[in-house]
Amino acid sequence: MNVLVINCGSSSLKYQLINSDSEEVLAKGLCERIGIDGRLVYQKEGCDKEITEAPMPTHKEAIQMVLDALTNDKTGAIKSLSEVDAIGHRIVHGGEKFAKSAIITDEMIAAVEECNDLAPLHNPANLIGIRVCQELMPGVPQVGVFDTAFHQTMPPKAYLYGLPLDYYKKYKVRRYGFHGTSHSYVSKRAVEFLGLNPEDSKVIVCHLGNGSSISAVRNGKCVDTTMGLTPLEGLIMGTRSGNIDPAIMEYVAKKENMDLPAIMNVLNKKSGLQGLSGVSSDMRDLEAAADGGNEDAQHAVEVLCYEIAKFVGGYVAAMNGVDAIVFTAGIGENDGRVRKTACSYLGYLGITIDDEANGKRGEDVVISTADSKVKVAVIPTNEELAICRDTVALVSGK
Ligand code: ADP
Repeated sequence: MNVLVINCGSSSLKYQLINSDSEEVLAKGLCERIGIDGRLVYQKEGCDKEITEAPMPTHKEAIQMVLDALTNDKTGAIKSLSEVDAIGHRIVHGGEKFAKSAIITDEMIAAVEECNDLAPLHNPANLIGIRVCQELMPGVPQVGVFDTAFHQTMPPKAYLYGLPLDYYKKYKVRRYGFHGTSHSYVSKRAVEFLGLNPEDSKVIVCHLGNGSSISAVRNGKCVDTTMGLTPLEGLIMGTRSGNIDPAIMEYVAKKENMDLPAIMNVLNKKSGLQGLSGVSSDMRDLEAAADGGNEDAQHAVEVLCYEIAKFVGGYVAAMNGVDAIVFTAGIGENDGRVRKTACSYLGYLGITIDDEANGKRGEDVVISTADSKVKVAVIPTNEELAICRDTVALVSGK
């Protein structure tokens, strides 16, 4: 079965065409600057990237260009659209309505729309992608895979905030968590790869990218995670602050004469590693600056590693133990220094890191020593493959 995986943002769209039998990526790419001018990146398996600048006033033109590229006579990955058997969409927020992926129907779309308030930038963009695909490929089954779904198993003690309960009852203010597709994929793979007992396992997944979150997964079910009502909570991130004292917002608003939207913009776009270092939100730039003696950059990296260790320590307590700690996403997969520094706080758990293994890249690898009491591993995430697998399972009725 060929599955087209679509991740639709407000002005961009990422896609992959995956053969679900071989799990091979037949073609992939992205559309950027939708509604501004338009740029399509297309790459067929084994071929160079092709870049086409073309007007994309809306997502409809963008998706049409993707479909044209996929079926192009010379460089297409398939001969015709009849070879697309199903479409899997990433949807950011499923609120409390979706604890797992779901076939897209009119009722399902209406339920997603009810969650739009919770993710006003993302959900409407995801829904546009769904509607355009329905229009351009009528009859092809579509599935929605939610960033929040995996975390729906959290108990009330993990998802309730210490606020008036009415905010939860009336407005559904609670912890939802994000990156769920990644946490689910990586925690399952960890159980398999490390030979843990699926019925009795305690895994902590550290998804460290531009956006970062950590989750505690017991027997395959999420019991806690660092992101909250929105992806702003938890760890320090590329440009997001992560946890702060909420009173800072009023204090700074008064000092800087800012309103709430301006403060939110600072917390989401101008804080985090970028804000603290004044150098960059990108870990590679930050480490280069830190190595060159920039103290602000050094502190930013130190804050990240320290916070990782504190959340991991908290989740060890939450699960009363841990079998494996797994690193994934851009920083988690590539940055041996961050992994080693974060783990250096965890000696009390009997963790020791094997420097040679910690230097490896691009594969599932155990980076703890053979005598380490807790296994530490790197497992590259693959959200597109996870979306493809869920899509196949649902459309084939498994
Ligand atoms: P997103 O959340 O946008 O999907 P990614 O998972 O791609 O982000 O992660 C991006 C982060 O990964 C950036 O901070 C980037 O600097 C970092 N990163 C990528 N490659 C490396 C590397 N070789 N060493 C250190 N950090 C890296």
